Amino acid sequence: MMKQVRTRFAPSPTGPLHIGGIRTALYAYLFAKKHQGDFLLRIEDTDQNRTVQGAEEYIIETLIWCGIIPDEGVGFGGKYGPYRQSDRKAIYREYTQKLIENGSAYYGFDTDEELAVWRANSAEKNNGISDAYNFSTRSTMRNSLTLSKNEVADLLSNNVPYVVRLKVDDGEDLIFEDTIRGQVAFKKSQLDDRILLKSDGMPTYHLANVVDDYLMKISHVIRGEEWLASTPHHILLYRAFGWEDEMPSFSHLPLILKPDGKGKLSKRDGDRLGFPVFGLAWTDPESKETSLGYREKGFEPQAFINFLAMLGWNDGTEKEIFSDEELIHSFSLERVHKAGAKFNYDKAIWYNQQFLKNVNLTYLASFFESYVSKNSLNLSNTFIQKYCEIFRERISFIHDLEKIGSYLYSDIESFDVDSLKKKWSLKSLDFVNDYISKIETTEFESIKLEELFKELLNKYEMGMGQMMPVFRIALTGIMQGPSVFDSMLLLGKEESIKRLTNLEVLTRDF
Ligand code: GLU
Repeated sequence: MMKQVRTRFAPSPTGPLHIGGIRTALYAYLFAKKHQGDFLLRIEDTDQNRTVQGAEEYIIETLIWCGIIPDEGVGFGGKYGPYRQSDRKAIYREYTQKLIENGSAYYGFDTDEELAVWRANSAEKNNGISDAYNFSTRSTMRNSLTLSKNEVADLLSNNVPYVVRLKVDDGEDLIFEDTIRGQVAFKKSQLDDRILLKSDGMPTYHLANVVDDYLMKISHVIRGEEWLASTPHHILLYRAFGWEDEMPSFSHLPLILKPDGKGKLSKRDGDRLGFPVFGLAWTDPESKETSLGYREKGFEPQAFINFLAMLGWNDGTEKEIFSDEELIHSFSLERVHKAGAKFNYDKAIWYNQQFLKNVNLTYLASFFESYVSKNSLNLSNTFIQKYCEIFRERISFIHDLEKIGSYLYSDIESFDVDSLKKKWSLKSLDFVNDYISKIETTEFESIKLEELFKELLNKYEMGMGQMMPVFRIALTGIMQGPSVFDSMLLLGKEESIKRLTNLEVLTRDF
């Protein structure tokens, strides 16, 4: 039986959440939900120098906007807390002590200066590559493995600063199975005696991350590819603690790549190419510069999530549009791609368009209704419904509804006279006048209005391509838009007649 699935998103609050981070959270969430498991938010703020004010709240707000709601975590409660690492210092000290006691870790008393000199000297001898602090070099350094027991006790009682290092012994390669990449191997000689506890008493990422994953009963670690190289040390830590049976599985997600060229998508690419890389707007606390997010651009969270889910995963078919429930149902780590996913902003917009095409009409209508009342426009409910229905196919963002058909509820600002002139002929005015006089006795419905139009095309022996643009420009000012007859319906009989009559004035100088 599979153990209770528990995944976590463990960001460091060093700034705004990049879409790569949101995707990591999303995959961890989808996986947990698919297996009726729990999804946690843990804030990894052990590097206090890099903690940015407001970042934690921002991360939480982003997850909420995206609908990636943690079951437990900072801001969400839960019985495995505290979920903020800076509130767990005592726990890390306690677990460090266990490793020292069982011989898996040791004290390092080398000062920063000593280490710098040592590194520089070894680099000089070794073509610029400095030695690593590891099984082959540690015996030449000042640590609890080289100093006598008494010396160590003295140093500790005199509060001489120290770090605690993991003792990584030489031996066989370290091999593990990554769900996405398959077998991954590291040579022991590549692995240094990684610092676990820093001289300021704070744990490093490695120690805190492993201790917390263990104590919070994480079953699957799902994180960005940049952490792959840290995994061997994490596995060694599980072994050192004797927690191998509880070790989670590891899945390292591929990068999100620049749309043009190679490399990881960065904020600079977004600035350069004109798209957001954050979920929500972020104001840099230092420069005070604000970057817009997907939310402020007008993206619907479900569309954004659907887009992000497909950036590095598919369900094995051509299917692209997924509801939140379908994503949960279909998601699997096995289908996450190995290769990086090229970012494509147009595709993000496409997802938003698809969402708006398919969403319940009342969602669009209630948005437009609030715009209508804010601007004291006098429009009926029937108008609002029909308006949203005919324009939903033509918008990229819901706020496009505000202006896209404004010619149907306010005056036309300008007419495309050049196009009108190209289509205008001697018979046009007769056609229009005939149409106007017949409207009076025609039922005012799209189909009837269209039938009448076609009847007159026959009568005057004119083509659709000749007269349709004339009607369009008279009624809406422009050449493109939804059905002319639907537009007439929204304008109403009186206004339609008025606008068609106005053609005489518009074309006077032709
Ligand atoms: N704190 C790490 C980060 O900021 C977490 C990596 C992990 O998930 O293990 O991404």
